[in-house]
Amino acid sequence: MRMSKFYLPTLREVPSEAEIPSHQLLLRAGMIRKLVSGVYSYLPLGLKVLKNVEKIVREEMDAAGSQEVLMSAIQPAEIWQESGRWYDYGPEMFRLKDRHEREFCLGPTHEEYFTDLIKNELKSYKQLPLNIYQIQTKYRDEKRPRFGLMRSREFIMKDAYSFDMDEEGLKKSYKEMWDAYDKIFTRCGLKFKIVEGDSGAMGGSDSHEFMAISDIGESQLAYCDSCDYAATDETAHCNYTINEIDESQLEIEKVHTPSVKTIENLTGFFNLSADKFAKTLIYRVKDKVVAAVIPGNRELNEIKLVNHLQVPEHELELADEKTIKEVTGAEVGFAGPIGLQEDVILLIDSRVAKMKNVIVGANETDYHIKNANYAKDFQGEVVEDLLLVREGDACPKCGSALKIERGIEVGNIFQLGTKYSDSLNATYLDENGKEQRFVMGSYGIGINRTMSAIIEQRHDDKGIIWPLSVAPFHVMITIISSKKEDQVELGERLYRDLKTQGLEVLLDDRNERAGVKFKDAELIGIPIRITVGRRANEDVVEYVVRGKGEKIEINTDEIMKNVKKEFEEQGLNI
Ligand code: ATP
Ligand code: MG
Repeated sequence: MRMSKFYLPTLREVPSEAEIPSHQLLLRAGMIRKLVSGVYSYLPLGLKVLKNVEKIVREEMDAAGSQEVLMSAIQPAEIWQESGRWYDYGPEMFRLKDRHEREFCLGPTHEEYFTDLIKNELKSYKQLPLNIYQIQTKYRDEKRPRFGLMRSREFIMKDAYSFDMDEEGLKKSYKEMWDAYDKIFTRCGLKFKIVEGDSGAMGGSDSHEFMAISDIGESQLAYCDSCDYAATDETAHCNYTINEIDESQLEIEKVHTPSVKTIENLTGFFNLSADKFAKTLIYRVKDKVVAAVIPGNRELNEIKLVNHLQVPEHELELADEKTIKEVTGAEVGFAGPIGLQEDVILLIDSRVAKMKNVIVGANETDYHIKNANYAKDFQGEVVEDLLLVREGDACPKCGSALKIERGIEVGNIFQLGTKYSDSLNATYLDENGKEQRFVMGSYGIGINRTMSAIIEQRHDDKGIIWPLSVAPFHVMITIISSKKEDQVELGERLYRDLKTQGLEVLLDDRNERAGVKFKDAELIGIPIRITVGRRANEDVVEYVVRGKGEKIEINTDEIMKNVKKEFEEQGLNI
């Protein structure tokens, strides 16, 4: 491709709307443009990368024996009503009606649709196992679309679904997808960790998430260096224990604590550490109010709360001031487990149930209660674990100190079991002619999110550093002066030659200043850069690999040797 003809609108300024490097660079490198919040178009350079990521995904999915199909984005409400997710999916689902008032959605995912397809097509155990996938556009009305392609409202997902006769078959399919994902993200040049995930709305038992390590990641993962334990913080069991001291239970005592509301202020006021307090968090779940009591020095894990209550995530919200006043009889900041309105569902983290003489809110403005003890002074449902893990907590598997890191969830794999075949009544006939439910798995990869994650991990202050595997072009040739005949001639010749070697080449033949050309080259991050300049008449060019920094002067007949070496180093052949 010739830069002079290429639709590549690069930007010098950092767009103010973009908070993170990948979003800024995607815009600046002329790869994407925003239509409205969370909705983007791909310009030629962006589309090339997107297609390269898709190609890797396709090759590995095909190699793993999955077969590609393409389903519609529009799905009728009925199949979602049957599975129960028409309601559970909540406001994230884009819903619409046709001219006959029939309800539809724009598919946020396709479990129902694939199950429905297969149940009508596949009748015999002889046709199992089956694994099918698509690379297709998904729609989700995200609460907070942000970070460009990372969390958008229209995005491209590779979603695969496996159908097996039994659990054993599912385990095998799951492992095949695990291995395929491992290869995909490795080929994409990502540093990633595989962690246990929350099955949440998907149902089913086992699930894993593939996390690209990044400080801007929206997910946190807890992992152990001493063993192989790794899980998202939503899932990780919190092994926090309290020192059970041999102390007798004292009588409760009301203490005047004017305007002392937060744990931070309370620790100062009482001159005690945060672990001597229990905090009570009030939530609304539709028309019910839930109070969760946890140790004062810890955070609540809302996913564990939602899972315990068995309600969809979108139903849980922190209670507003009015509700808090109603159920506690006090201003915000004084809630506690003693004397809450009767219909409040009171959940007590198991650690609080073991704490002695704890300080809690008094459910009276400007008051707290000292020496509260579970069972004697307050009752409620004790829940084993409502806490968010924290760096240093004991690993649930081996007891060593856990570490916490941030990650971008680029893909996940779920063992669905019979959740969807049960609800949608999807069966096959086994060897004995008996009806059995399909045992299913589902497997997603965010194609555009993967693209963002690659940029997030591979950039510097000048621009993107693409790995050859997904780079929009392998080589960029910059002609320093388009007025110098020998430079133009050599540039053109190399452009032709390298293309015939099977390389994707971008030729900067624009009539621009060298500085502008170099800035653009660094911004768009083509891995191999050849500069044709003052030594063109000697057949000598400058050669540099983006991100490696060492510029060398080489004769043109050495170019291919260097290019091949770079391909090899990145694990590729040409
Ligand atoms: P998240 O927790 O980030 O919202 P999810 O659990 O909702 O992700 P899935 O429903 O499992 O994600 O979707 C499969 C994959 O699709 C994810 O691993 C992610 O890579 C991608 N994905 C999900 N939501 C978005 C989005 N809004 N924008 C871009 N990619 C997304
Ligand atoms: Mg989501």
